Amino acid sequence: MAGSGEGQVTAYGFIGLGDMGGPMAANLTKAMSEAGATVWVYDKAGTAERAPEGAQAADGIAAMAAQAETVFLSVPDGRISAALLAEIVAAPDRRTTTIIDLSTVGVDDAIAMAETAAASGIAFADCPVSGGRAKAIAGTITMIFGGPAAVLERHRAALDAMGGNVFHVGEKAGQGSAMKLLNNYLSACNMAAASEAVTFGLRQGLQMQTILDVVNVSTGMNTATADKFPRCIVSGTNHTGFRAALLAKDVNLYLAQARRNGTPVTLSSKVAEICDAVVAEKPDGDMIDHWFHVQAQASNDR
Ligand code: NAD
Repeated sequence: MAGSGEGQVTAYGFIGLGDMGGPMAANLTKAMSEAGATVWVYDKAGTAERAPEGAQAADGIAAMAAQAETVFLSVPDGRISAALLAEIVAAPDRRTTTIIDLSTVGVDDAIAMAETAAASGIAFADCPVSGGRAKAIAGTITMIFGGPAAVLERHRAALDAMGGNVFHVGEKAGQGSAMKLLNNYLSACNMAAASEAVTFGLRQGLQMQTILDVVNVSTGMNTATADKFPRCIVSGTNHTGFRAALLAKDVNLYLAQARRNGTPVTLSSKVAEICDAVVAEKPDGDMIDHWFHVQAQASNDR
C-alpha cells in the first residue's frame, strides 16, 4: 500500500487551525507529546497565535513536509485540501508518507487526492468529522474514516485523541466523505423541516416550548427540534457554531454526487436551494439563520 509507513509515528503535522482544527490540533498535541511524538502545526492566517501549547509552529507547507510523517488537514473545502496535498507531494526532502484529510470534501475530491498521493507513494484517507466546535474541544467528535484499515490502525491513538468516536466506514478514499455528506444533508433537512413546522405551530397559537416538548417525545423529533431549537433559539444565543456557508457547501456536494450516482434528488435539490438562499441573505451567517430565513419568508407572505 502507498507509503503507509511502519511503526509508531514520531512526528505529526496539522494544517488549518480554525474552529475545528484549532481544538483538534490541541488535543492531538497533548496526547501525542505525552507519547513522545512532536506535532508541527500551520495556518495560513497566522500560525504562532493559533498554535496550541506544546506544538511546533511550521514556517510553511514544505517545512512541515520535511518534518512530519503524517499530516492532518482541516481546511474549508476540497479545492484547498487538494492544493495542500499537491504542495506536500512536491516538497523537497519530504518525510510525509501519510495524509489524512479531516475536512469535509466531495467524494470525487477525496478519490482524486488518493490517486495523486498514491502516485507519489503517499497513503491518503478522508476522515471528515461531525459534532461541531464544542465536541472538538471536548475531544468527542465523530471521526468518519474512509481508507485502508492498516492506515487507521497506525493512527488510532491520534484519532482517538481528537475524537474518540472513530468509525471505519470503508477501505476506499471517498467513503468517509460519502458518509459525512449524507449525514449533513439529513441535518440540513432537519433544520429546514423544523423551521417550517415550528412556524406552522406558532401560527396556530401554540407556544414554541410546547411544540418542542411534544415533538421531542413523539415521532417528529429530529436533531433540530432536540438540539438546535432548545440550545440556540429558545435560549436566544442564535448561534450553533456551524456556518451556514459550510452547510450549503456540504449539501451541494451531496447533491452533485447524488446526481452522479443516480440517487433521486427531488428533496435534496430543494434543500440545496434553501441553503443557498440562506447564504445569499447572510454570507457570514450561522446554520441557525435557516430559522430566520423562514421567519422573514413568513412575514413577507402575510
Ligand atoms: P474554519 O474556517 O474555522 O477553519 C479553517 C482554517 O483553515 C482557517 O484557520 C484558515 O486560515 C485555514 N486555511 C485555509 N486555507 C489554508 C491553507 N491553504 N493553508 C493553511 N491553512 C489554511 O473552518 P472550520 O469550521 O474549522 O471547518 C474546517 C473543516 O471542517 C471544513 O471542511 C468544515 O466543513 C468541516 N467541519 C466543520 C464543522 C464546524 O462545526 N465548524 C463541523 C464538522 C466539519
